[in-house]
Amino acid sequence: MFSRRHFLIASGSAPLWAPGVSRGAPARYPFTLGVASGSPRETSVVLWTRLAPEPTKGGGMPAGAVAVRYRVCADPAMRRTVRDGLFVTSDADAHSVHVLVDGLEPGREYWYQFHLGEDDSPVGRTRTSSRKDAAARLALASCQNWQSGRYAAFADMAKWAPDCVIHVGDYIYEGGVSPLGQYTRDVGGGRKKTFEVVRQHDGPEIVTLWDYRNRYGLYKGDPDLQAAHAASPWIVALDDHEVDNNWAGDTPQDPWAQTPLEFQVRKAAAFKAYWEHMPLERPPAIAGVDAHLQLYGAYRFGPAQVCLLDTRQYRADQVCSDAFPRGPSCEALQDPARSMTGLAQEAWLLGELARSDATYNVLAQQTWFAPYRYNAPPAAPDINTDQWDGYPVQRQRLIDAMAQTSNPIVLSGDWHCAAAMRIHRDPADARSPRVGHEFAGTSISSDCPWADSVHDAKDANPHAAYVNGERRGYVRCTADARTWTAEYRGVADPRDRASAVVTDAEFRTRDM
Ligand code: FE
Ligand code: CA
Repeated sequence: MFSRRHFLIASGSAPLWAPGVSRGAPARYPFTLGVASGSPRETSVVLWTRLAPEPTKGGGMPAGAVAVRYRVCADPAMRRTVRDGLFVTSDADAHSVHVLVDGLEPGREYWYQFHLGEDDSPVGRTRTSSRKDAAARLALASCQNWQSGRYAAFADMAKWAPDCVIHVGDYIYEGGVSPLGQYTRDVGGGRKKTFEVVRQHDGPEIVTLWDYRNRYGLYKGDPDLQAAHAASPWIVALDDHEVDNNWAGDTPQDPWAQTPLEFQVRKAAAFKAYWEHMPLERPPAIAGVDAHLQLYGAYRFGPAQVCLLDTRQYRADQVCSDAFPRGPSCEALQDPARSMTGLAQEAWLLGELARSDATYNVLAQQTWFAPYRYNAPPAAPDINTDQWDGYPVQRQRLIDAMAQTSNPIVLSGDWHCAAAMRIHRDPADARSPRVGHEFAGTSISSDCPWADSVHDAKDANPHAAYVNGERRGYVRCTADARTWTAEYRGVADPRDRASAVVTDAEFRTRDM
């Protein structure tokens, strides 16, 4: 993956050293985590790398400031330079590099590379967005538990090289290390299933900034994840596992195990490390133990406007327990003050939808938006209150707004289960008018122990055209003047990074 410039001995033909050849001294190659680009706009993009010779041991760079050179070229051979500069980073930001390159042309490819001393990073390809593009190719990804699979899905995504990758969270998992090999787990209904830990986390559950940095160092060392970053710009929003399972706002899932103050300190560390490892435009604002990370925003890809949402940071806590599936409905769910996005983000979203002239109006966000019941009617529905089923009043407000726009489409992740669903005006009544569509991606690698529960309940959810929790993978979305196509790519063997990846199902909005 990496290159060092070759220095030849004048008296001989053999290189003094060549790429990947150790000379006995510890490797000090700093670009071990690859390169990335993100937040593609009409004339700008963010370029990312991090200097980390020892990525799972604190990074390995000496304290202090370092100037990293970057180049942006018009060709993959890196001959026609269109931008060139220095970026100064330091240990205060884990030697991460975030270069906002502007003044670019809309809707075209660029290639970029970083240089430090004798070392060159891999070359990345990126692409500015353009509202004039006739079509858009967008990959939807989420949930890449290191321990439960390798990243054949990312290798396949890199080959496709979409205009943008939309990652809706669970980029890392916070859990501790599990024993390698197969284990059996109760999956409900008296059934058991076998899962496998194929590679291990680097230590116990992560809590401190040091821990979070090393966990990103572990995940981002994966060559297939690096290839997907190097192939396309990404837009990213975190979900729960980048901090802690099922957290909401300032509330941890397990308030008996961590005090609110401990959780706030932990969240600030998690946000800082997320920023340090993602091609984001803005760092978190951290004041004392209060941390805020601006992630939601609007992007335009040809006929599609994508509003990327943040449904963790501002959400009201789950009510009536977030155990799954939750039993008979509780009054608190109907409280109109509870929301998934917070009021400011909702006002922003409604404004974007009202102003939009796009053919497709996409809400890219974390959890399933359409309802899903796990028991048959007419009983009160058993639901997952961590998803939009736990926030039905705000969901209805958004559906009412989406009904006024052209082709609303929701993209989601979180549940490790692929789904293609119709969104109805009354979302629980499939006979009410259809407003739009939801395409939920499965996980890149995370297991879905509740797959049988989802499959068994499909007939009780007539708005669901497709559910599949058995396969790992991602969704290829193509938007053109005629239709939105969602192609569900499935990994044949998640243990094998060279696994075949095939199309399991394909849906077009004009046919649904
Ligand atoms: Fe997940
Ligand atoms: Ca999640």
